[in-house]
Amino acid sequence: MSSSAAQTKSATDFIAEGHTPMMAQYHAVKARYPDCMVFYRMGDFFELFFDDAVNAAEVLDITLTKRGKTAGEEIPMAGVPAHSFEPYLARLIKAGFKVAICDQTETPEQAKKRAKENKGQSTLVNRDVVRIVTQGTLTEDTLLDARENNYIAAVAEIAGQFGLAWLELSTGEFMVQGAAARQLGAAMARIGASEIVIPDRFRERTDLYHHLAPVQDRLSPLPAALFDAQNAQKRLESLFGVGTLSAFGAFTRAEIAAAGTLIDYVERTQVGKLPYIAAPRQVSSGTVMDIDPATRRSLELTRTLSGEKRGSLLSCIDRTITGPGARVLHARLCAPLTDIAGIRQRHDEVETLVADTRLREDIRALLSATPDMERAMARLTVGRGGPRDLAVIRDGLKQAELLRAILAARGPAAFNDLSSALSQQPGTQSLADRLRAALDDEVPALARDGGFIRTGYSAELDKFRTLQGESKRLIAALESKYKQHTGIDALKITYNNVLGFFIEVPAKKADPMMVRGDAGNDNPYIHRQTMANAVRFTTAELAELERDMAQASDRAIAIELELFTQMAAEITRLSADIGNHARAIAAIDVAAAFAELAVRENHIRPQMDTTRAFTITGGRHPVVEQSLRKQGADAFVPNDCDLSDAQRLWLLTGPNMAGKSTFLRQNALIAIMAHMGAFVPAASAHIGIVDKIFSRVGASDDLASGRSTFMVEMVETAAILNQASDKSLVILDEIGRGTATFDGLSIAWACVEALHETTKCRTIFATHYHELTGLSSRLPSLSCHTMAVKEWEGDIVFLHAVAAGTADRSYGIHVAKLAGLPPAVIDRAGEVLAMLEQGKQSGTLAKLADDLPLFRAAPPPAAVKPSPLNDALSAIDPDSLSPREALEALYSLKALSRA
Ligand code: ATP
Repeated sequence: MSSSAAQTKSATDFIAEGHTPMMAQYHAVKARYPDCMVFYRMGDFFELFFDDAVNAAEVLDITLTKRGKTAGEEIPMAGVPAHSFEPYLARLIKAGFKVAICDQTETPEQAKKRAKENKGQSTLVNRDVVRIVTQGTLTEDTLLDARENNYIAAVAEIAGQFGLAWLELSTGEFMVQGAAARQLGAAMARIGASEIVIPDRFRERTDLYHHLAPVQDRLSPLPAALFDAQNAQKRLESLFGVGTLSAFGAFTRAEIAAAGTLIDYVERTQVGKLPYIAAPRQVSSGTVMDIDPATRRSLELTRTLSGEKRGSLLSCIDRTITGPGARVLHARLCAPLTDIAGIRQRHDEVETLVADTRLREDIRALLSATPDMERAMARLTVGRGGPRDLAVIRDGLKQAELLRAILAARGPAAFNDLSSALSQQPGTQSLADRLRAALDDEVPALARDGGFIRTGYSAELDKFRTLQGESKRLIAALESKYKQHTGIDALKITYNNVLGFFIEVPAKKADPMMVRGDAGNDNPYIHRQTMANAVRFTTAELAELERDMAQASDRAIAIELELFTQMAAEITRLSADIGNHARAIAAIDVAAAFAELAVRENHIRPQMDTTRAFTITGGRHPVVEQSLRKQGADAFVPNDCDLSDAQRLWLLTGPNMAGKSTFLRQNALIAIMAHMGAFVPAASAHIGIVDKIFSRVGASDDLASGRSTFMVEMVETAAILNQASDKSLVILDEIGRGTATFDGLSIAWACVEALHETTKCRTIFATHYHELTGLSSRLPSLSCHTMAVKEWEGDIVFLHAVAAGTADRSYGIHVAKLAGLPPAVIDRAGEVLAMLEQGKQSGTLAKLADDLPLFRAAPPPAAVKPSPLNDALSAIDPDSLSPREALEALYSLKALSRA
């Protein structure tokens, strides 16, 4: 992000080049942060210069102006108000920029004093970068989605091994994982980091291209030399105060390099202030379900294919109440567990709250008053918090205690661990007491405004506040005294930011007061300002009172700030404990949300074990079911699915629009929900742990990376065949549709065989190649199913029910008719279909099933029918004909053909 100061030019260097002192200061800062937009504080604005100004003006739609010249060069400039710059910042960050906030580090008075004391120094106010804002290191509520995690990740490579590290600034959750190159894409899709720090040379690596392309806009490249395992190790050991990292796990050098570089990067963005970071936790492969990026997309887990949240599985199952709860749910959906004990624990929690409606409702009522302690804590620990963040911790700790009490009183065993995580430690207990005693009920956003400490908490503060209050009374007394003295009833003492307190009288009555007090009379009034209708004065008495008031107010605010700093420091010190409470609350929120979902949507607890069972009765698609209900359409038709060993590969045929894709997806979604710890939309479900899920449903192309629709389909199919294990669940829809019929059918055929014979995973394979059903006679675990339809007066009615058997046709033309293709086209399509079907029956395809294994290289040519024309043709020997005989033969053949 920034090269070391030693290598960059200083302000003096820039002055020597002919820049003005201010521009020299700006350039010196910019030179240290060349990849950031610099927000340079000038008065009430943050100004941007040169290219930054041009870019910002375009993105933010603000005016681009000029600020004279420096070193003979014009200075393009654009600015945003300093008191409301966050919305602008948000837009720049969203547009992919990083922003270095360069603020004043002294007041103009301090600058003058400094220059006076050190002869030769500039009176220019010192400025420095106080923070670098990047997408992954945001902490502001206004810039973050409260219901989404904001991870920052780093990837390092050492000797061909990759290491990933990722961190949530608001929770301090810090994870590392090792990966082979081919696993990178899946891991990054699972983590979903909003910023990924990589060595710059990764961008030139063709072997990494496909892993990095989907996250292109989130990459933060750094010089490769920074990803050094040795330095990283030292960095981590000192951060966690340990002699060796092995206390936390056996990390690879690549993991250490990624983790250490990530910490360095975060520290640089916070300019030295690191938030609370938990000890790194290693995610070993195999503890969470592998879901590759294509599968995530096609199952629309967190976003729909068109990129929206609405309509995704997440939006349909998320009933959490708190922000942290929503973030945990999101994370669980991205990384469902494969550890049976962990899954059962989550299911136990949900079951308890399904059974006990009162407890569930009471918990949810408490959660609705529980604020987001994690994000407040993150802001406080990096020095960007305010009194409201203190109030959040106060209220959050109180809710934690209430939740603990309710769980303890009603004693559900499933919550033993969570409830003990909520038990207050002596530290958090006394912090909670202190915050309750110190803070007002309603507090302002900014500490520097003061007015958030409760009266009675600090005797000293109260003393200055009384002085302030007293002064107000004294001013009122002065006002009536001056009224009496001048005899002007309309006289009043008021305040503005320029003059401070002043006496104001109507202009026409002001003359007697204008006689100067030093002219030998007793006039105490000193003229300050003449307005159109009024004249303003002060007095020595008023000025002294004002000074006292200002002093009292300054003292009061200083005391409040001191108390604020103390409390923020205490929270920072206790962040691990507070984090534990926050995490426990989030987990309770998720359990209660799943229970609520289960009750409202009629979901049941799946039976989970380590077998290879997959038996669902009355399964439903959670999203389609809800959307049909919302539309007031017919109820969703539940369907069974049994992929147990004897029939682990289902071949699903059926008409278009009959519900094949829905059925495929619903089974994958049921599996994912079960593994993430939720109940599932079914009448019953028995699922053996699924290690990986693969879904290839629907066509999509990836033109940006030069892949056609069919190529994408084949790449995804290849991934499935290469990576799926016998514990995986695979759903495949219409493999081979993107190419010529025979090529497609051949590929689909070979894939079914490979999945059945080699991979042996649980599979549902939907296809319009009805020919494939012929395989059932040869492949014992292949079972044929079809979507039932009813034909009625030439039309079809979709029953959406899955039945054993095989479809005899696709009814594609019926669906085309429903879609409104012109009648002439529909009629003609019907004729062509009839001809094709006739041809097919007498052709070779019908015999394919008998030809196993697979097709012969080429079908034998059909026997030639005898005819006079054919006889004459075979009698001709072209080599023995003269040109004239050839011409005659041609005429006679032509005549025969007409006969
Ligand atoms: P195609 O072969 O054309 O891709 P398909 O067989 O995959 O079609 P789907 O896309 O799964 O069909 O379903 C079509 C529509 O039918 C869905 O949008 C949904 O509204 C409805 N549908 C599917 N399954 C059910 C069901 N079980 N109960 C009620 N409606 C359903």
